[in-house]
Amino acid sequence: MHEPMPATPIQTDVLIIGAGPVGLFAVFELGLLDMKAHLIDILDKVGGQCAELYPEKPIYDIPGIPYITGAGLTDALMEQIKPFGPTFHLGEMVETIEKIGEPMFRLTTDRGKVFEAKLVVIAAGGGSFQPKRPPIPGIEAYEETSVHYAVRQMDQFRGKRLVIVGGGDSALDWTLNLAPLARHLTLVHRRSEFRAAPDSVNKMMELVNKQKVDFLVGQISELEGADGVLAAANIKTNDGSSHHIACDALLPFFGLTMKLGPVANWGIELKDNLIPVDTEKFETNIPGVFAVGDINTYPGKLKLILSGFHEVALMSQKAYRYVYPDKRLVFQYTTSSTSLQKKLGVS
Ligand SMILES: Cc1cc2nc3c(=O)[nH]c(=O)nc-3n(C[C@H](O)[C@H](O)[C@H](O)COP(=O)(O)OP(=O)(O)OC[C@H]3O[C@@H](n4cnc5c(N)ncnc54)[C@H](O)[C@@H]3O)c2cc1C
Repeated sequence: MHEPMPATPIQTDVLIIGAGPVGLFAVFELGLLDMKAHLIDILDKVGGQCAELYPEKPIYDIPGIPYITGAGLTDALMEQIKPFGPTFHLGEMVETIEKIGEPMFRLTTDRGKVFEAKLVVIAAGGGSFQPKRPPIPGIEAYEETSVHYAVRQMDQFRGKRLVIVGGGDSALDWTLNLAPLARHLTLVHRRSEFRAAPDSVNKMMELVNKQKVDFLVGQISELEGADGVLAAANIKTNDGSSHHIACDALLPFFGLTMKLGPVANWGIELKDNLIPVDTEKFETNIPGVFAVGDINTYPGKLKLILSGFHEVALMSQKAYRYVYPDKRLVFQYTTSSTSLQKKLGVS
């Protein structure tokens, strides 16, 4: 019997864990300073939360871009980083990180790939995020077919009878967005008070008054259907009455649980499931391992995309000093530096 051949390590300057918006923009900032990156993501697509949780929702606070959807921002970032030719390893989870040099790291994935990287950038967001399952008996049987915890494509719900459950922003936003497409939409929430933005609640109540949406205060007691295909939901309202609502799809929005996953086992200091960093280099307690975006914490941290963009610009300055210890780092603007423009392929 032969021992299985160990996988040949993939060599790179920087290994980025997580291809969310912050991991993607890290490719740009590192690339401007001549550092090559590979990215690994558990999801089968790039864009992190923007792509997975709100691809069609508008973001209004990206500097200089008054309005862009989650998917639009992901596409724009992919276009922006094209000149730097990053390599993506999607549908793979980084399981282990081992220090093998000063600095040099060996990382392995759950699919058996091995990487050797001078530096590691953890841009893992909240880790692997999973929707909270509502306590409805037998709901598992309809997941992926009739029960959806995220709206990937609104058109999928055109002409359908929908039941949306929840009282937060996601439940209200999707009620407003899907009502014009759906054949019939019922919103179910266990209380008449909402955690969502008051403006969304007002707009939803307008739709209820115009009889475009039904709103029930209560809980789903039972689902009816066969072979994963939903036919109806039985709802017990708080006044004690029962309602039988024929439906094709159920969309529960009960929030998300962020599961940190293997990040917790890498020997990196954690605080409340986040990685403490300094605000000069965004480096962890392990020299050569950086943490950027939603996964990190420091005084005043805001979990915003623009914060992550700022962090990767500063992180890259320090990364350069590790990768090119003998070179001088000259600060340059993309508007005026012909050398940067050459890297971007625009001159
Ligand atoms: C509904 C909603 C609306 C929002 N609206 C706004 C807004 O208007 N403006 C704004 O600035 N922000 C907004 N945010 C927050 C914003 O999406 C996050 O700040 C941003 O996505 C963080 O980017 P990130 O790259 O750090 O992490 P993420 O987007 O979470 O990406 C992290 C990636 O890492 C991957 N990963 C994790 N662990 C591993 C591992 N071990 N191996 C491989 N891959 C791994 C995950 O699969 C994920 O794809 C919103 C968030 C939500 C949920």
